[in-house]
Amino acid sequence: MNKMTGRAVEALLAWNRSENNREMPWKGVQDPYKIWLSEVLLQQTRVDQGWSYYLAFTERFPTVVDLAQASDDEVFKMWEGLGYYARCRNLLHTARYIANDLNGVFPDSYDGLVRLKGVGPYTAAAIASFAYNEHQAVLDGNVFRVLARFHGMATPIDSSEGKKLFAQLAQAWLPKNNAREWNQTIMDFGATVCTPKNPACLNCVLSAWCVGFQTNQAAALPKKGKKILRRQREFIFHAVFDPTRTWVRKRSDRDIWPGLYEPITEEDFQLWQHHLPSSSLQPHQKFGPVKHLLTHQELTIQVHVHRLVAVLPDGAKTFLQDKNYQEISHQQWGEIAFPVVLKRWISRKEFFPFP
Ligand code: SF4
Repeated sequence: MNKMTGRAVEALLAWNRSENNREMPWKGVQDPYKIWLSEVLLQQTRVDQGWSYYLAFTERFPTVVDLAQASDDEVFKMWEGLGYYARCRNLLHTARYIANDLNGVFPDSYDGLVRLKGVGPYTAAAIASFAYNEHQAVLDGNVFRVLARFHGMATPIDSSEGKKLFAQLAQAWLPKNNAREWNQTIMDFGATVCTPKNPACLNCVLSAWCVGFQTNQAAALPKKGKKILRRQREFIFHAVFDPTRTWVRKRSDRDIWPGLYEPITEEDFQLWQHHLPSSSLQPHQKFGPVKHLLTHQELTIQVHVHRLVAVLPDGAKTFLQDKNYQEISHQQWGEIAFPVVLKRWISRKEFFPFP
C-alpha cells in the first residue's frame, strides 16, 4: 500500500467509525450461514428489497440444516419475487451439501468457500472476511466504482484485464488484520457517498486525493466495455379455471424460471382446444403484454384468463397429463410459486373468474 492509499484507507475507516450510519439486518453478523444467505439473496437485488427476504429466511430457517431440510416448493415460494431462480436452486443445493456432506459446518476459508456451488470470488471473500476476518478484499459494484474514480482508471471493469487490475488494487487497499471492518466500510461508502449518480464529492473524505474528482471525470467512471445483446422471447400463457380447479406445470431446469409453475402455454393451449367442445371457454381477462428484462433475454409476456364452463372430456384431460400439467385447486394456486412477472397479475382480485 503506498502512502496516498494508506491515508485514504485511514480516512475511510475514520468515516466509518464516525459518520457511516448505513443500517442493514445482516451487518456485523459473523455467522457464515447468515452472511452467505444475505449475499445470495442480494445478488442482482436491491438492499431494501432483500431486507424482508433475509428476515423471513433467517426466521424460518435459523440454521443451514433447517434450510436443507425444507422442501423445494416451500423455499421457491419464499423466494418468489426475487427473480433469478437459478440462485434459489444453488442455495438449496449448497445448503444440502453443507448439511449432508460437511455435517452442517461451513468451510472456514476463502479457498473452501469459493468451491461451493453458486459462491463466486465476491461472495467467498465476503463470507471469509465477515465471518473469519480473513485477509480477502471484496470486489462488488461499489468497490469497483470507488477504486475506478479514486485512481481515475478507465479500464473497463468487465474486461478480463480490468477484472484482474481491480482485484489487485482492491487487495492492495486492504489493511492488515482488518478485512471485516474494511470490506464493510468501502461497500457502505460506495453505496452512500460515492454513489453511481451524483456522488457527494464536496463532502467526501477522499476528495483531496481522488483523481476522478480532481479531473472532473467521476460521473463517467467506472467504464464498461461490453454491450449486452438480449435474446427476444415471447411468452403467452392461458390460465383456465373451472369453479374448483385450474391447471399448471412445473418448469424444467433447462430454461429460465426452473422449478416455478406456469399456466398452460400458448402452443399447448392451441392444441388442447381441439379436445374441447365448442364454447367451453369464456374469456375473462387479459394481462399484458409487458416487457421483462433478464440479464441476457428480453421477454414479452401476456396472460389470458379463461372460465371453463363445460365438463372436461377425457381426451382433454389426457392431453394435459401428457404435457405434464397438474390439476390443482384454487387454494393450491395461491400456494405455489410463479415467476414474479406473472405473480403481479395473479395476486390481483380481478384475475380470478370465480369469486
Ligand atoms: Fe467518489 Fe467523489 Fe469521493 Fe472521489 S471524491 S471517492 S468520486 S465521492
